[in-house]
Amino acid sequence: MLLSVNPVNGKTIATYKQHSNKQANNIILKTHNAWLTWKTSSADERSRLLMAMSKQLLSRKNELAGLMANEMGKPIKQGVAEIEKCAACCEYYAENAASFLKDQPINTDASKSYVTFNPIGVVLAVMPWNFPFWQVFRFLAPALAAGNCGVLKHASNVMGCALAIEDIVKQAGFPANVFRTLILDSKSVGSVIENPLIKAVTLTGSTKAGKKVAEKAGSLIKKTVLELGGSDAYIILEDADLEKAAEICVNSRLVNGGQSCIAAKRFVVVKSVEKEFTRLFVEKMAAKVMGDPLDEATYIGPQARVDLRDELHQQVELSVTRGAKCLLGGKVPNGKNAFYPPTVLSHVKKGMPAYDDELFGPVAAIISAKDEADAIRIANDSIFGLGGAVFTADNKRGERIAATRLEAGSCFVNGLVKSDPRLPFGGIKESGYGRELGMFGIHEFVNIKTVWIA
Ligand code: NDP
Repeated sequence: MLLSVNPVNGKTIATYKQHSNKQANNIILKTHNAWLTWKTSSADERSRLLMAMSKQLLSRKNELAGLMANEMGKPIKQGVAEIEKCAACCEYYAENAASFLKDQPINTDASKSYVTFNPIGVVLAVMPWNFPFWQVFRFLAPALAAGNCGVLKHASNVMGCALAIEDIVKQAGFPANVFRTLILDSKSVGSVIENPLIKAVTLTGSTKAGKKVAEKAGSLIKKTVLELGGSDAYIILEDADLEKAAEICVNSRLVNGGQSCIAAKRFVVVKSVEKEFTRLFVEKMAAKVMGDPLDEATYIGPQARVDLRDELHQQVELSVTRGAKCLLGGKVPNGKNAFYPPTVLSHVKKGMPAYDDELFGPVAAIISAKDEADAIRIANDSIFGLGGAVFTADNKRGERIAATRLEAGSCFVNGLVKSDPRLPFGGIKESGYGRELGMFGIHEFVNIKTVWIA
């Protein structure tokens, strides 16, 4: 039985009976059969349905944001914004998929040779709870646009969201079974991957889960795209506008209660401005309102689950034991809830969880750097490589660092790292491989086929 538990008060909201192996395989077979027709649908038809899906999402945005608030604690305003972003993603692929999938002629010794993009079949999406709609739609919109079908194994604690997504696809008018939700826990994922009708897997979640899924899929030569953890470093150089940088850094650290793979986690500050940046940063972190996610004034809701909050607190405590200073927060509130306050650690060094690991919650690690070169070295001193940012008054200097020095998939100058349907998104190192979104995203799950005619 899978449980949805409200992290505000620990009450069980709903229970979901898991599908048996037989039921799951039956759903996958139906999805495969739907694909046999869907793969022949025209670009116009796919585009029309994606636009209808965008409308569905927008017409239900308040209800869906409420569902997220109850299942995983996302503040209601941020939930509405998430649904709007999903709608924009559907529209983006409705408008652009045909051009991304157009045949590409290439001159060779043939009378005609070109590249064409064929759909591959049913793709399994293993998804996390932190952006329960966005993580799914950024896979789903391009997958359907490319003529693929999908089955979703969502995180066990957001099954309400998973079933709502299945319903949205249906209500938008897509043919039956092009997208289905499997009610399964993580133990069942291996046998789903083994099903020969599953052609590829995309996973967003922890590096640990990514390794397991990639191992299984790899043993069966099925392609994977992995969007895993991150510990994004934001570099603050001595010429940065500190007030603005601190504001952006706080917003990035606290997005979704700090539970975002591309939230800023390490703040690498050049020594000469460290004191002033830290003062501004702590002041702005302290000003953010934590509370009921259903209240419009709330900026930070609870963490998604009590076990995840407790794990985060342990990482904070161990960092402090190893010499970090806790300047703000760092205490578990009373009660049967999953809240954790905005927390700032300074004097963070290698060997502490706040330096080495991903802190998936509202905890900022301030790390001191001697100069620009030292800051770049520290930023890259991580097993992760998802995103990164640099703050400087000199855009040219920032661009050089972002484009050529930082080891990460998305590097921003004087702005917070964010995903955008128009830009490819993904990581390097243990943050994963492959790209979602943009043109690169739609090409991940197609057969890039060469055609050669004498
Ligand atoms: P997981 O990575 O465990 O969960 C993400 C998804 O993977 C869920 O659907 C989960 O299913 C599934 N999963 C977990 N283990 C396996 C496995 N061995 N084989 C197949 N599927 C699996 O995240 P958690 O919820 O446990 O969060 C733990 C940490 O992961 C966080 O603290 C954070 O560091 C990171 N994380 C990163 C995210 C990102 O956006 N990059 C998103 C969420 C978490 P089930 O829910 O049934 O276990």
